[in-house]
Amino acid sequence: MPIVFDNRFARKFPEITTRQPIKPDGEVNLRWLNSPLWAELTNGETPPAELSQWLGGLEHCPGSDPVAQKYAGHQFGHFNPYLGDGRGLLLGQAVVGDKITDIHIKGAGPTPYSRGADGRAVLRSSIRELLASEALHALTIPTTRALALISTQGKIQRERVEPGAMLARTATTHVRFGHFEHCFHRGLEDTMHNLWQDTIEVTWPHLADADIEEQFSQVVKSTAEMIAAWQAYGFIHGVMNTDNMSLAGETFDFGPYAFLDDYQPEKIFNHTDAGGRYGLLQQPGVGLWNLQRLAQAISPLIEADKLRAALDTYEPELRKAYLNRMTKRLGMSSVPAKERMQLVGGWLSLLEVNQADYQLAFRDLIDSLEAKEPKGLLAQSGDSWWQEYNNVVNGESDIDVMKQVNPWVIVRTHHAQRVIEAAETGDDSLLHDYVQALMTPFSERLRESPWAKPPTAEEQVSELSCSS
Ligand code: AMP
Ligand code: MG
Repeated sequence: MPIVFDNRFARKFPEITTRQPIKPDGEVNLRWLNSPLWAELTNGETPPAELSQWLGGLEHCPGSDPVAQKYAGHQFGHFNPYLGDGRGLLLGQAVVGDKITDIHIKGAGPTPYSRGADGRAVLRSSIRELLASEALHALTIPTTRALALISTQGKIQRERVEPGAMLARTATTHVRFGHFEHCFHRGLEDTMHNLWQDTIEVTWPHLADADIEEQFSQVVKSTAEMIAAWQAYGFIHGVMNTDNMSLAGETFDFGPYAFLDDYQPEKIFNHTDAGGRYGLLQQPGVGLWNLQRLAQAISPLIEADKLRAALDTYEPELRKAYLNRMTKRLGMSSVPAKERMQLVGGWLSLLEVNQADYQLAFRDLIDSLEAKEPKGLLAQSGDSWWQEYNNVVNGESDIDVMKQVNPWVIVRTHHAQRVIEAAETGDDSLLHDYVQALMTPFSERLRESPWAKPPTAEEQVSELSCSS
């Protein structure tokens, strides 16, 4: 295997892992490989012919030591002690220089934490995760990555029978808030301490010797920055349970996620989320609630007032990060912060009233600035905001910056659906083409691409199945 494995998690934490091999589900097919990511993990080596056999469990992947991780978590507000990797295995940790990267296989067969479920992943949800993680990465939003997609011969029962798959993904760490909740619940204080220290060393090596307050503050800050970025790009995670929150502040465990098409901030995408707990506007608050659960879990490690002080930094960090992102998206770095916030508010109202497309509206603004007259949405009904913007920005918009942060292409459910339908019949050409666009979303060539088009009224998909 051209990847050098270390497997420190399996070695250091036997009490919260179960060792087991990947359980194959028939012959495998490599459907997509993330070539740039593969190159990073291997120092540019050619992928070997056996790669799909290794990732699909038909042959042991040399150097790996796969384990299922035990964790707990709060799901939709309620504590569940029975969680863990029910269908995923941590293959091991890849080492490149000083950098350590988790490689995980989702859909690798049942484990002791499967709770009667099949341990498998379907092609549909694996493709959805692949698309979102590469799209978020291109938008510079911290996220796990998709390394490879493998289809199996499995026929998986969900709402319908679906083709099976395995997704190899990478992350800085697969340690979740829920890992610490498990340790707390079971009184595993030494394990908790070692797990905290190890995760910090892997994620923020420069904080290895810092005190826990400072380390926890970093977790708070990274979480706030991640969620601020979701808000700025209209990304709805959909299942922000504490077992789906990475300690590293990377977007993690994609279920019924969505990017907004037209700006309807109240819209709910996860149909099992009847209370709307995880809608766009709830995400900042839920992020804090989840951090509070983490703080409670690690309370044996650090005094309560220090935890509280760190939690108090969440909201200002989130606001700052959100305003930074929106400042770039609206090209208004020359404007004082208070006026910037006002412009953002007016912009969002304009979009909401007109049900304008959340991504393409920013491109209308760029077009208007270049033409020096309102275009698109701004020509139709944005005249007063356009005037206010021009008064405040006074000819000093950062158009070059705007072009580097405002995508032509994002994951849109109707496009993902087409890609999935084609892949289910064995045609991967749309998948490859769409991922390529998502990886370079700011490219001017995409202006006329079909992938840039929002859904027509008939193409709108309002609710997403949670089953994956
Ligand atoms: P999720 O919300 O999809 O991240 O999953 C919640 C919990 O259910 C985790 O402990 C998963 O490992 C487990 N799980 C989800 N789907 C399956 C499946 N098909 N088989 C076994 N466990 C599963
Ligand atoms: Mg999960």
